[in-house]
Amino acid sequence: MSKHWQPGTGCPLCGDVAFAVRSRIAFDRIWEWYGEEWGVTFSPQLRASLTPAEVTELRRCEGCGLDYFSPAIAGGGAFHDELIAANASAYVEDKWDFEQVLSRVSPGERLLDIGAGNGAFLAKAARRGIVGEGLELNHVGAGMARQRGATIHMETIEAFAPTRPASFDVVCSFQVLEHLKEPRPFLAAAWAALKPGGRLYLTVPNRDRPAEDLTSFEHPPHHLTRWSAGQLPALAEMLEAASSRVEIEPPSLHQILLAMRRRRPGSVPVKILSRILTARPLAWLWTGALTRRMGLCGHSLLVEIVKPA
Ligand SMILES: [Zn+2]
Repeated sequence: MSKHWQPGTGCPLCGDVAFAVRSRIAFDRIWEWYGEEWGVTFSPQLRASLTPAEVTELRRCEGCGLDYFSPAIAGGGAFHDELIAANASAYVEDKWDFEQVLSRVSPGERLLDIGAGNGAFLAKAARRGIVGEGLELNHVGAGMARQRGATIHMETIEAFAPTRPASFDVVCSFQVLEHLKEPRPFLAAAWAALKPGGRLYLTVPNRDRPAEDLTSFEHPPHHLTRWSAGQLPALAEMLEAASSRVEIEPPSLHQILLAMRRRRPGSVPVKILSRILTARPLAWLWTGALTRRMGLCGHSLLVEIVKPA
C-alpha cells in the first residue's frame, strides 16, 4: 500500500489530491430521486445524518481515473434497513459475477464471501462442493443466509481478517467496493485473509455502461465511487499482486435493444429484432458482433487478483 495515502484525503484509491469536477448535485435532489424511483421516504433523522453539505461533487481522480463523490457519507446499516423495508433493495439470486467466479474455483477450496447478502452465492458454491463462509453486517441478509445453511459472521473484514490470517484460497466480494468511503483498509484486510497463491475476486458496476442505467442508487449515500476497467489494474498494483485479470460483462439483450432503438428510432420493429437476436444459436453471434460495433457493455466489471505464492 502506498505510503502517502491518508484516510479522508484526496482519492480514496490512490490518494492523489488532483481531480476534475464531472458534475454537482444537491443532496435534496438525491433524496427526492430515491423517492421517485423506489417509493422510499427516509426518516428526517437519517437524511440529516447522511447529508454532509448542500451539494456533492463527482470528482475524477487525475492519478488513477476513479470517480468519487465529495463530500459523501456511506449509507450504513440504518440506511439499508430502510431501503429493505421499502422493498427498494432486493437480493438477487443469480448474476453474471457469480458464474464467472464459480467457474474459477475448484471443489474443496476454502472460500470467503465478503458482503454475502442472503447467501445466494454461498448456496450456489456449496452445491458444487466448495466450502464457503460469509461476512454480512445486515441482520436480515445474515438471517436468510443462515437459514440456507451458510456460516455467516456478522463482522467487518477489518475485524475478521486478524482472527483468520492467510486462511482462504479464494476471497470474493460482489458489488461492495463502490459502497465504501475508504476502500483501502477493506482491500488490505481481504488480502490478509488470503493464503499465499490465493485469489481475490472483486466486482463493481461498470460506469461505462449506457447512461440510462444510472439511477439514484449510483449516488451517495448508496454508491460513493464509480469504476471503469482502467482502475482495476491499479488495485492489483497497490496490493503488490503476482498477476491480475479484468473481465467486462457483455450487454444484456435489453441493453442492446435500447441502444439500437436510440440510434435508429423506428427503423426495425423491436419485436422482430428481439426475435432475431434471441434465436439460438444465432444469439451469441449477434450479440458479440453488435457489442463490438456499438461499444456496449453490461452492468459489471470483475477483477481476479492473485497473491504471490
Ligand atoms: Zn486516484
